[in-house]
Amino acid sequence: MDHLNKIEHLGIAVKSLDEGNALYTKLLGVPPYKMEAVESEGVRTSFFKAGPNKIELLEATNPDSPIAKFIEKRGEGIHHVAYAVDDIKAEMARLSSEGFQLLNQEPKMGADNKWVCFLHPRGTGGTLIELCQDRG
Ligand code: ZN
Repeated sequence: MDHLNKIEHLGIAVKSLDEGNALYTKLLGVPPYKMEAVESEGVRTSFFKAGPNKIELLEATNPDSPIAKFIEKRGEGIHHVAYAVDDIKAEMARLSSEGFQLLNQEPKMGADNKWVCFLHPRGTGGTLIELCQDRG
């Protein structure tokens, strides 16, 4: 079994989900198949399919949202790379023991029916990494 099975989706920070949805609908030729707010993270999200791949757009719902802070610092664009895992707790333990900094010590509920954990970009060469496991 692989540790990180595949790229599950790319997360892209946008100032406006309405504008992002319009842009990506034109780009990909299909509308988002799902929209979902994650209150605990201060985000509204939408999901698009491009063949087998998924794109997640994220908009801040309040000024303290990590997405608001990201856009303030780095502007709109790729925010995180999400990898699918089969056993998120095992991967969290493995990556922690490899010296990666986990941003949450327990899996949390993310969008799209996933358990998620983020790795600090400081230890990953500048890219925020999300691990996600289907909640079934
Ligand atoms: Zn994500």
